Amino acid sequence: MPASPFQFDNTYARDLPGFAVPWQPATVPAPSLLFFNRDLALELGLDPDVLDGPDGAAIFAGNRVPEGAEPLAQAYAGHQFGGFSPQLGDGRALLLGEVIDRLGRRRDLMLKGSGRTPFSRRGDGKAAVGPMLREVLIGEAMHALGLPTTRALAVAATGETVYRERALPGAVLTRVAASHLRVGTFEFFSARRETDRVRQLADYAIARHDPDLVGTDDRYLGLLRRVAQRQAALVAAWMNVGFIHGVMNTDNVAISGETIDYGPCAFLEAYDPDAVFSSIDHGGRYAYRNQPPVTRWNLARLAGTLLPLIAGEDSQDAMSEATGQATGVIDAFPEWYGGALLTGQRAKLGLQGGDDPSDRALAQDWLTLLQDQRVDFTLGWRRLADAADGDGGPLRALFTDPQAPDAWLARWRVRAGREGNAAVDWKDRAERMRRVNPAVIPRNHRVEEALAAASDHGDLGPFRRLLAAVQRPYDETPEQAAYLEPARAEVTACYRTFCGT
Ligand code: AMP
Ligand code: MG
Repeated sequence: MPASPFQFDNTYARDLPGFAVPWQPATVPAPSLLFFNRDLALELGLDPDVLDGPDGAAIFAGNRVPEGAEPLAQAYAGHQFGGFSPQLGDGRALLLGEVIDRLGRRRDLMLKGSGRTPFSRRGDGKAAVGPMLREVLIGEAMHALGLPTTRALAVAATGETVYRERALPGAVLTRVAASHLRVGTFEFFSARRETDRVRQLADYAIARHDPDLVGTDDRYLGLLRRVAQRQAALVAAWMNVGFIHGVMNTDNVAISGETIDYGPCAFLEAYDPDAVFSSIDHGGRYAYRNQPPVTRWNLARLAGTLLPLIAGEDSQDAMSEATGQATGVIDAFPEWYGGALLTGQRAKLGLQGGDDPSDRALAQDWLTLLQDQRVDFTLGWRRLADAADGDGGPLRALFTDPQAPDAWLARWRVRAGREGNAAVDWKDRAERMRRVNPAVIPRNHRVEEALAAASDHGDLGPFRRLLAAVQRPYDETPEQAAYLEPARAEVTACYRTFCGT
């Protein structure tokens, strides 16, 4: 094995001393790789042949800290279900370091489940096989669907037992992210009134994620605007694939605009805007339909931390002007979100641009139809593509009343027809629609089945087959067929997800 399989360049450790605690991962008894992401390794400029074996297992379980890594636990705070926790931080994770990928992008490598840290509070610092493999499945599915997301490089079994409601096999996840800066990272220093540190953090975030803002006069307002725009695009993309994050606390909102922390997340089956799956979300704060307004609320928490920087000086006037400017950004969020949502919906409807003012209503009425008829969200869209191709049968079969979509389909055909008229256009349209409306998503019952086989029986077969399926979400081959099937409605009605703690 070469000196180090990684070329680390650790700006967080170097440029932000005092923002994290240098710490070492725990040693575990029996590391072995359950998953290694060869494609992602190549993207990161790593040698998969070196890492996909015992050496990788030792590194990804935390037993061997590779040369150049500077493991540290990051400090952060967060609003959890609306209440502020001034100190959370990496209680079971360690940033190993940063690498520059093949496209020149800086990426964090983080271990999750690598033992107790000064931020662990009463937790054991550990993670279980099931929830870590869930991060693999959902992250890879989101990536294949074209959504910005953290991704799993590896999952190593530890040979330890971790104790939750019951005894479970332990594992460590290696997660790759554009960065692990969170809204909660800003809140940590802001709550302590450490304005200089908030400024240092903001300058670091700008250099890393919005380098074109470096040195501009209104860069802190600019940062807020960029984060808000990235979140608007992200959450719109979630809504358009039926994704429910489940725990949108500010410590789980990434400045980079990537989806982070796949805990109690789930995909919609029958379209229901009120859907909540998380066992701890009693009030439905993070229900499907609440994701956009909650994001706006979370962005307002970020704005609060940046006010002194936006103001620039400590005067009443400067602060009230800054408040006005930041409020302007937060107030613009619904429009950015709505624009991104509609752009995505137009593509899903097979409409190529134009901005027909009736499109918003067309999309909304489609969703209302899906809701009234309890139609599976994913299949509803997918079968609409078939209807574009001339075969409306499979679409109708999803509806309780097969005639229910008739009037809407007629409207849609008229609207789409305004974009061109040759018969071949409808074939093209169907093809385009099949590239944005997935056939395969990680269905909740399939995910549970795969995780149970891996965790309870050490059988990785269902996990691997499901992973292969969700990595090709737009293919509808015979091998994929079983993964298209929704769960029985009774199963979905009682489906509950749990935090990965
Ligand atoms: P999460 O729900 O994964 O976003 O975590 C919220 C907070 O709880 C973070 O500060 C985590 O580091 C911490 N945490 C979660 N699980 C554990 C655990 N098993 N041991 C220690 N800290 C944990
Ligand atoms: Mg978290």
